[in-house]
Amino acid sequence: RHWGITPPLGFAVGAVRHPDRPAVIDERGALSYAELEQRTSRLANGLRKRVKRGTRVGVLCRNHHGPVETIVAAAKLGVDVVLLNTGLTGRQLADVIAEQQVGVLVLDAEFRAQLAELPAEVDQILAWTEGTTRRDTLEHLIATSSPRRPARPRRHARMIVLTSGTTGTPKGARRPDPPSLSPAASILSRLPLDSGERMLVSAPLFHTWGLAAFQLGAVLGATLVLRRKFEPEEALASVQRNRCTAVFAVPVMLQRLLDLPEQVRDRYDHSTLRIVASSGSALPADLATRFQRAFGNVLYNLYGSTEVSWVSIATPQDLRAAPSSAGRPPRGTTVRILAEDGSPVERGTTGRIFAGNDMLFEGYTNGSGRETRDGLMSTGDLGHIDASGRLFVVGREDDMIISGGENVYPKETEDVIARLPEVSETAVIGVDDPDFGQRLAAFVVLRPDQELAAEELRDRIRDRLPKFALPRDVVFLAELPRNATGKVVPRELRDRLGG
Ligand code: ATP
Repeated sequence: RHWGITPPLGFAVGAVRHPDRPAVIDERGALSYAELEQRTSRLANGLRKRVKRGTRVGVLCRNHHGPVETIVAAAKLGVDVVLLNTGLTGRQLADVIAEQQVGVLVLDAEFRAQLAELPAEVDQILAWTEGTTRRDTLEHLIATSSPRRPARPRRHARMIVLTSGTTGTPKGARRPDPPSLSPAASILSRLPLDSGERMLVSAPLFHTWGLAAFQLGAVLGATLVLRRKFEPEEALASVQRNRCTAVFAVPVMLQRLLDLPEQVRDRYDHSTLRIVASSGSALPADLATRFQRAFGNVLYNLYGSTEVSWVSIATPQDLRAAPSSAGRPPRGTTVRILAEDGSPVERGTTGRIFAGNDMLFEGYTNGSGRETRDGLMSTGDLGHIDASGRLFVVGREDDMIISGGENVYPKETEDVIARLPEVSETAVIGVDDPDFGQRLAAFVVLRPDQELAAEELRDRIRDRLPKFALPRDVVFLAELPRNATGKVVPRELRDRLGG
């Protein structure tokens, strides 16, 4: 998706208002607001000589100061940025890079080998290297370029964000210009972040969720704490070391934190944490409950997508009352549940979720779009709203299956399996069936040292689900296949069934 780039505004204000406050802390140390302002001006001047007219800057990085500085520098220059998903294959990356006219690619050294198929004219700059003597690095470019603040660019730079690619190759999506603070304002209407927050951003910066956290941080004059890889124990150590007040994560990261033995968890002080925000994929109800029990009432669940932006946000209170809820719409967003024929459904009835706000995307870069009705756009998801106005997402429209004539929502089965004490995590998908048209298959990861047979699992959930919602296949796995944004990849699960 295209986004107007707003973080530079926040960083420029921060450099004046609180120059010595750390803007970014990562494995290499801290950069203050004043340093970031100066370094990004230098980088902008350095990039000016490298970026050819009409081309964009690509970023293929883990979470560290490099992508932050590149985005801000490109905005100062008025050059568009394409954020690349580090989980893509070399072939996919080469395709996206060509399609999105990337002329200069800022990348971590570890991804270089993957890019053998890249045309020679793509100029590469290394953002994270183990040795610092190389000349083709971001650091070298910053050190050797002028610190003068670049003149105001003639155009707004845009950021192109790709969807997470759960259903195939990620799609680029166009966002309206000019840069808007609406996404930040919308989140802040239900997420009580303050200025000067210390935010551990574990969600990847190349995805809508990590980027939203980055934008919020810049707007609030916060300190962004970044780690290149998510390791649960290291995340807790980082919270303690940096006295973090907020964490931005995807659900599987919260699961990993809970999987840590209690004595390991107790080694770290996380009493500074006021907010743990989860988004990017569905937050399993059982995970929400267990997380609140272990970490206190700090958990927020944000539901949104690259196309529709923020649809609803659940507060800790919402999650206590209804752990599977996605909460209520933030300021400026309207949500409606519509039946197949486009008419509104009755309260409590499951239908198609439509949402409207001033952040809707303008279409995919391949020219296709999303269905809209009366100014509201389809989220592609199914759900219902309860009597108190809370939204429940039951899954993607594409995930719903029809088994023996019945509509079956795999997530409902998932929620029941996840509540078994032996189960760490689970994914349920629809597969073709010669007798019923389709049937459910469950993939289950057990907690360490737990045992459970397929037949026993089915017996234990039999009285909690209608017959057609019971999984006919139960496959135990050591871990679920996930993409770089932590989403389970159904395609890969299907492959496991065959074997
Ligand atoms: P692709 O379109 O390439 O398959 P994607 O749809 O996964 O990628 P995203 O924009 O990252 O791309 O994902 C948005 C989708 O993720 C939502 O439509 C919804 O299905 C799911 N989702 C995100 N957050 C939540 C949440 N809090 N609760 C339930 N579902 C969520």
